[in-house]
Amino acid sequence: MTKHALLAALLLIATLAPAQPANVSTAPILGFSADGAVKEHALEGQFDGKLNRDHLRDWLKRLSARPHHIGSPYDKENTELLVSLFKSWGYDTRVEEFDVLFPTPKTRVVEMIAPDKYTLKLAEPPLAQDSTSGQTSEQLPTYNAYSIDGDVTGDLVYVNYGVPADYDELAKRGIDVKGKVVISRYGGSWRGIKPKVAAEHGAVGCLIYSDPHDDGYFQGDVYPKGAYRSDTGVQRGSVMDMPVHPGDPLTPGYGATKDAKRIDRKDSDVITKIPVLPISYSDALPLLRSMAGPMAPPEWRGALPIPYHLGAGPTRVHMKLEFNWNMVTIRDVIATLKGTERPDEWVLHGNHYDGWVNGASDPLSGLVAELEEARAVGELAQSGWRPKRTIMYAAWDGEEAGLLGSTEWAETHADELRRNMGFLEAGGSHSLERLVTQAARDVTDPERNVSVLERLRAHQTVSAHTAEERKEVREHQLIRLEALGSGSDYTPFLQHTGIASLNIGFGGESGGGSYHSIYDSFDNFTRFIDPNFDYGVTQAKTTGRLMLRLTNADVLPIEFSSFSDTLSRYTNELTKLADTLRTETEERNREIRDRTMELAADPNRTFVVPPAQEAVPYLNFAPLQNALDRLQHSAREYDRAAAAMTPDTPNAAARTAAVDHILMHAEQALTTTQGLPRRPWFRHAIYAPGFYTGYGVKTVPGVREAIEQRNWKEVAQQMEVVASAVNAYAAEVDRATEAARGKSE
Ligand SMILES: [Zn+2]
Repeated sequence: MTKHALLAALLLIATLAPAQPANVSTAPILGFSADGAVKEHALEGQFDGKLNRDHLRDWLKRLSARPHHIGSPYDKENTELLVSLFKSWGYDTRVEEFDVLFPTPKTRVVEMIAPDKYTLKLAEPPLAQDSTSGQTSEQLPTYNAYSIDGDVTGDLVYVNYGVPADYDELAKRGIDVKGKVVISRYGGSWRGIKPKVAAEHGAVGCLIYSDPHDDGYFQGDVYPKGAYRSDTGVQRGSVMDMPVHPGDPLTPGYGATKDAKRIDRKDSDVITKIPVLPISYSDALPLLRSMAGPMAPPEWRGALPIPYHLGAGPTRVHMKLEFNWNMVTIRDVIATLKGTERPDEWVLHGNHYDGWVNGASDPLSGLVAELEEARAVGELAQSGWRPKRTIMYAAWDGEEAGLLGSTEWAETHADELRRNMGFLEAGGSHSLERLVTQAARDVTDPERNVSVLERLRAHQTVSAHTAEERKEVREHQLIRLEALGSGSDYTPFLQHTGIASLNIGFGGESGGGSYHSIYDSFDNFTRFIDPNFDYGVTQAKTTGRLMLRLTNADVLPIEFSSFSDTLSRYTNELTKLADTLRTETEERNREIRDRTMELAADPNRTFVVPPAQEAVPYLNFAPLQNALDRLQHSAREYDRAAAAMTPDTPNAAARTAAVDHILMHAEQALTTTQGLPRRPWFRHAIYAPGFYTGYGVKTVPGVREAIEQRNWKEVAQQMEVVASAVNAYAAEVDRATEAARGKSE
């Protein structure tokens, strides 16, 4: 998946490895007493002192030395290396295997048959400056996993990013894609949305290319001179319909263990309906150059030296794709360090280790930071410290194909997870904002000699679009976590199982253009991304702090008021969304009725007047607003009760344990048994990936998507569903308050 989507989730700007302050901090830490916080800061200082950037470099070199996609020999060698490392650091380590469907290409033919002849090369050439790029025999060819087989021919239509709004623009120009092949550029949505929406509109095939505007020469020098995508670079990637469900297509909702019952491949609803293939812009250029028809709208034009025409045709394309629909074994590595006081409360940090090719940046740069964190925590444990709660480190396999390793593991262990798992850290659950803020406060950025927190807030302030947003960042004391959509391994935990989750990544503005290509290599990473592993070490410091605080805290560092504030923002957004949609619909229908649209159009160009839309009724937000009101009240009561609970209150230990137990499970109240309409696998009432955005999050998805899709009956139903989840959550908060006050049930 996209590292950069990860990075956007929580952009912590890190630079040089921080020097340690000599004196130990006494700053408060949520979940700890004053004395406890001092001890915790001292422990974290020891932890920082153990981190060694040379380890990150050595492991990155070794793990990325050969292509390591699932089912490859080197992926298995990496499994064995990871097991031996975790064992050597004192972890109880096991491998869990699953058997999953993983298609690889057998036939890939794409050719232009009119007006000229051109056969696409569909290859990324090795480069002398990149020592692993020549490992051709072990590389997966360029393709999109879970495209259906197909042999199709059609006139080509350029569809921009290929999202639903793009097809409305085409329709206004009298262009439809029925029976056509579409060409879409990467970006604007998760890639799997493009073939899905194309098929919904009747297209027979889909090509996706990387326009230099988005990650090529328009952005900067291309590889190997700079980090951006060259003319022959291709972005591989999964196109499984993950907004329906991620994981193995043949075992939806349950673990893909050896003997699991599997559905027939033709019954899977996550394999694409039409064939789809990614291509480089050197392969796309001849096709686009010979297109005719209306010019694309200005925002649709990329950076190629051609006029961007929409078609259809006269470029006519033949695509033939066949895949080996094989089963492969994937292997998750799970390393455990048992807690002393609350062994049944689990805190898990995971990262995937499978790559599309050599995968240095995605995923190994995150994995090696996790390894160094685990090694340092292991050393702390060997020198006598023990965590209160159980620490788990996971290295997931099969993430690239569709979050396979994490999903199958979470599905297999769903009951245990609901019982035992408090947190996963992999934006995030908004109840964790203060935890993240305090960790960022305590890691120094010596380039600017301020905390990572101050640097992040400065960055968020200047990058906000409006003065109002900038003011909001300044006044909000906590890091505003972005809501989690999808795109990485937290999805099965948060959105299916209801476990509070975080997604931590470090990154600056340098996007780079090696993503999912053979050029995401050790050479590339150490030249352009993080030459001295400064980001890697700073990431280990931050996530290490989060892990140590989550495992050591007296009471889990969760806050309900941050969550209720956030939910209140979402509720306002939704009412505004409905109002805007109502005004826009009225205005548009008027312009259609009085012929304004028609009169404004250029008479020399085709213009099709869009059909009038049903008026937007006034919607009843009361159930959600009432539930929110109750939650805000409950959260305030909890804050008061928690603040009054000090180590010298009577029965302090018993009260703390009782509160803790409730906090650990609270997030589950926000999940529903029936799940979202038409995609029951997604159960969280507040966060889900958008049905038409993929990675992009939809908050309060049941209500929001029903409004966007103008399904008023469903809006009313979903309003009740969300309100009852929020009420159930408020009831958990009330239970926690009672427990904090020492009133047992
Ligand atoms: Zn990826």
